[in-house]
Amino acid sequence: MQQPDWSGPLAAAYGGALAFLTDLPGHPVGASQDREALLAALDGPLPEQPHPAAGVIEQLAAAADPGIMRSTGGRFFGFVVGGSTPAALAADWLTSAWDQNTGLFALAPSATTIEQVAGRWLRELLGLPDDATTGFVTGGQMANFTGLAAARHEMLRRAGWNVEVDGLFGAPRLRVLVGAERHDTIDLALRYLGVGTAAIEVVAADEQGRMDPLALAGALEDADGPIIVCAQAGGVNSGAIDPVGEICDLAHAAGAWVHVDGAFGLWAAASPSRRHLLDGVDRADSWATDAHKWLNVPYDSGLIFCAHPQAHRAALSVRAGYLMHGSGDPFELTPELSRRARGIPVYAALRNLGRTGVAALVEGGCAAATRFAELLAAHPGVRIHNDVTLNQVLVSFDDDDARTRAVVDLVQGDGTCWVSGSVWRGRAVMRISVSNWSTDPSDVDASVQAILRCLQAERATAPASQLEM
Ligand SMILES: *Cc1c(COP(=O)(O)O)cnc(C)c1O
Repeated sequence: MQQPDWSGPLAAAYGGALAFLTDLPGHPVGASQDREALLAALDGPLPEQPHPAAGVIEQLAAAADPGIMRSTGGRFFGFVVGGSTPAALAADWLTSAWDQNTGLFALAPSATTIEQVAGRWLRELLGLPDDATTGFVTGGQMANFTGLAAARHEMLRRAGWNVEVDGLFGAPRLRVLVGAERHDTIDLALRYLGVGTAAIEVVAADEQGRMDPLALAGALEDADGPIIVCAQAGGVNSGAIDPVGEICDLAHAAGAWVHVDGAFGLWAAASPSRRHLLDGVDRADSWATDAHKWLNVPYDSGLIFCAHPQAHRAALSVRAGYLMHGSGDPFELTPELSRRARGIPVYAALRNLGRTGVAALVEGGCAAATRFAELLAAHPGVRIHNDVTLNQVLVSFDDDDARTRAVVDLVQGDGTCWVSGSVWRGRAVMRISVSNWSTDPSDVDASVQAILRCLQAERATAPASQLEM
């Protein structure tokens, strides 16, 4: 076979990516075209004939650009997303070029070895037991799913039930205790697992959104059936971290499993100044986190760690004659059989940043959040609703829900930065999340200026008396 043209399409992709990335810091953050305009540029009949690859890439880059949210830049503060560091992005490209099926060692010797090393580095960095199993999954949702699958197996096994064989019909009833501010992916994972949301019992949280250990102790009184407790490290609104050590002690005394959803907050363990927020987290049974949020690797990167390797494998693995089973093949630890080598960008990120670099990344995000809160709070009428202990800031304006929502809309349209809205304890808030490696104090200052400018504009057009609450 003739050598195909690799360099044309790859050069087009490289050129497009480089132009996009170098332009990023000065570019308006929000998308500039609506869905109709994007469809006009991207839609058309199913192509009948082949089209040269380089041309496809060039057309794609040009047509998609107006609808590419600059969420990978340093002035995007919506949701909790994170961007990509240069090392992680470059490793992700190589991962695609290698295109290894990382379910099996026999199919991907280097990729599985790289993931084995990355797993050990991660456990050490996050203060988790070294003998925990590590699965590279798509994100926090599937990390929660996988951790809760292992929990379901083990809690029912101890109750004398084999859920993998007998399913859940007729099984002992599982109770799942969750904090009032848990992430909705916990509920969804329980639906996927057939446990159902009716098994959920909500444990009260304090004013910062942290699970109240006294309320948990009450819920665990006289417990005798299988119980899973879901703690959270980093609530999506306030960023608060549950008292995980205390939760582990209470839950284990009642024979329960503790799963920690630490999609972004678990990374506090990598920071000497925040680690204390997670005291005792190593005593939990499973931990879910994301690499595509605070570690800033490209999307499709979540992590599940489990202190009970047998439960983890029993819940997730399959055996088939045609598979060349080694010992400890990665597919035993994730819902997927064939999958991308997600651990390679993680490995590159950790090699590039090192322990001190990850600590600086986390502490930089926290410092930027604090700077946001301080600068905004100095302005009359602006209120900060949470203790800014991590990377999240909840803001409202003139104690007025309609005005707060209007300011969020204006800021999204302004383009200097991008923030999202949320509801916190019944009130509308602007939610600022700092999760990008490249955010620096000047990004915060420019963004605060933009937010205050939008607040002034909103005040000028709609005096408070005309607003509905
Ligand atoms: C983001 C998040 C999730 C979901 O993670 P995905 O990567 O979006 O699937 C779960 N829990 C918490 C606390 C989160 O912040």
